[in-house]
Amino acid sequence: MPAGPHTATDPQTRGLLRVVTAGSVDDGKSTLVGRLLYDSRAVMVDQMSALEEASERLGYDGAELALLTDGLRSEREQGITIDVAYRYFATAHRSFVLADTPGHVQYTRNMVTGASTADVAVVLVDARAGVLEQTRRHLAVAALLRVGQIVLAVNKMDLVDFAEERFDEVAETAAEVLAALAVPPPSICDTRHESSHLVAVPVVATAGDNVVTRSERMPWYAGVPLLELLESLPASQPATPGARFPVQLVIRPRTAEFRDFRGYAGRAVSGTLHVGDPVTVLPSGRTSSVTSVETADGPLTEAGLDRSVVLRLADDLDISRGDLIVGAGAEPAVTRTATATLCWLAEEPLSADRSYRVRHGTRDVRGTVAVRDRLDVSTLQSSPADELGLNDLGRVTLTTTEPLVIDRYADSPRTGSLVLVDELTGATVAAGMVESTS
Ligand code: GDP
Repeated sequence: MPAGPHTATDPQTRGLLRVVTAGSVDDGKSTLVGRLLYDSRAVMVDQMSALEEASERLGYDGAELALLTDGLRSEREQGITIDVAYRYFATAHRSFVLADTPGHVQYTRNMVTGASTADVAVVLVDARAGVLEQTRRHLAVAALLRVGQIVLAVNKMDLVDFAEERFDEVAETAAEVLAALAVPPPSICDTRHESSHLVAVPVVATAGDNVVTRSERMPWYAGVPLLELLESLPASQPATPGARFPVQLVIRPRTAEFRDFRGYAGRAVSGTLHVGDPVTVLPSGRTSSVTSVETADGPLTEAGLDRSVVLRLADDLDISRGDLIVGAGAEPAVTRTATATLCWLAEEPLSADRSYRVRHGTRDVRGTVAVRDRLDVSTLQSSPADELGLNDLGRVTLTTTEPLVIDRYADSPRTGSLVLVDELTGATVAAGMVESTS
């Protein structure tokens, strides 16, 4: 691989990259994703022959790449509240998880869900149409969720005669939209500019130009193809305020052999806990230290991020599901009120007269929600409001009957986000990011 600002030194250290794609219907998102999978030889052999067969049956000339992802649409249409399909693929240099979100205007919620854990958002536009209202929403949501890096794929360059001027125009408009947002977007290193809010790549998803291999039809483009760019972008390393271990289950076998055993099953969602580390259990505030980390495969010296383990502590504390075991460092807030930015996901508007279940990590408490303002989804400017409807973004004050143990989303995205659940139906009605905890 050529050396350049995007080229990391060691492929092994690049780690898994979580990518969310967003685009309006017909911009070519399915084709682009299919092309990435196909050209990077990541498509399973059986999927490939099924694809060729289906393409032939439907009268396409060669493998129709959109079918690769369209196969997922039926899965998506089974009434799943959160409509995001995750695809895994790997190249010689890196593995990827791609959250594919449908592009309909009303589907801000899908992007919110797909993007909340993404390192990179690939926002697709049709070179002919340029930056549309929908693109503004996608850029705004990516910035709001603090997705570390935004890549603009300017597709269908073949339909604008591969014109550099058109590409520059679209890329500049998108950069202006980002710069004008009320929430400052992240900035990344561009191959051509020192630092910018986004990198733009001119592509032809159908033919593959600048997707996996460099296009000979756009010699003016100085950057790398999309896949190479994705291979080399850093996985974001969210600031971690310290170890966070939500207790999923208290394990107390009642057999004679394990009479004194008491362990806490779960996994760290931030940081790492080592044997010997001092810990605080919240909300009680009691302290102890880690004496062992156990797994089905034997003991470990540490509970690493996302590894399912059973922790044992030196002291016999009263701990239950929903408690948070916290390592040294900044502690989360223990509070019954918080300000959050919510994306409302339900047809029925948010009501101040009702209570909802607030789910945060393994904790589940009851709360009420007062709307403070609504955010314009393309500028992120706020205006006073007292109601939120489907796909609205707004700032709210949450008040819970029992304390939440939370971080600010900006400090720790995973322990700073929560969902609201309808008490009667059990449906997820909102996804939220904690802005402040007082
Ligand atoms: P999606 O709705 O965003 O998933 O869009 P699709 O991938 O289904 O593509 C919509 C249409 O645009 C299809 O007919 C594609 O063949 C076509 N298309 C996608 N990418 C390109 C491109 O780069 N150039 C041209 N000319 N057509 C494209």
